Amino acid sequence: MVVRPVLRAVIMGPPGSGKGTISARIVKHFGMKHLSSGDLLRDNMQKKTEVGILAKSYIDQGRLIPDDIMTRLMLNELKGLDRYNWLLDGFPRTVAQAEALDKQCQIDTVIDLDVPFETIKCRLTARWIHPASGRVYNLEFSPPKVQGTDDITGEPLVQRDDDKPETVTKRLQAYDAQTKPVLEYYRKKGLLKSFSGTETNNIWPHIYTFLQTKLPDVSLKDAATPR
Ligand code: AMP
Repeated sequence: MVVRPVLRAVIMGPPGSGKGTISARIVKHFGMKHLSSGDLLRDNMQKKTEVGILAKSYIDQGRLIPDDIMTRLMLNELKGLDRYNWLLDGFPRTVAQAEALDKQCQIDTVIDLDVPFETIKCRLTARWIHPASGRVYNLEFSPPKVQGTDDITGEPLVQRDDDKPETVTKRLQAYDAQTKPVLEYYRKKGLLKSFSGTETNNIWPHIYTFLQTKLPDVSLKDAATPR
């Protein structure tokens, strides 16, 4: 029997970088298993498992889950996927997590979405709402007829705290501080593959081509279907 080598990849990118969209396309076109630490935690929280209850207390305070808990959870999950191509999302978030992952398996590539913070800020701060009705506007895709006012009532629109420029800046700075050492860790190992751009649809073809070189058998099948 021929044993097909598997591809073990990590995807990294700040909130608003298009990581969710790109991950979904990778899964669709290359059939990789997608393992997101955030999704796994939310699933545990919903099921009220021991890890879920513990995780909730950290997440509610906007803190990271301690490395030992996070690592045990993720590595355990990966054990069941050792015959599949997989894509890790949201993990590792610290160098300690990256080192623990290295001990269990060898990562082949790290896809880094390098989207300028200014672009992300524009994207994330584009949402405005009309509090009384819950109507949502997006300054890029569905702007109000008159800037700053609700189309129906003419009342002023507001931004959610999460979407305010100062909050978005803080989130981006936190991502930067947290993940820079992890990106550096993988860069030194020669595994980091950065994709720069401002539009997900412009970045995607480069990632597609890159993964085609890593998974030629899978992409051959995919070539028959439209992207
Ligand atoms: P996410 O959906 O990836 O933003 O994750 C939601 C929350 O889960 C984060 O804000 C963290 O509190 C926690 N979390 C997710 N992944 C990790 C990780 N690798 N290490 C520590 N905490 C994590």
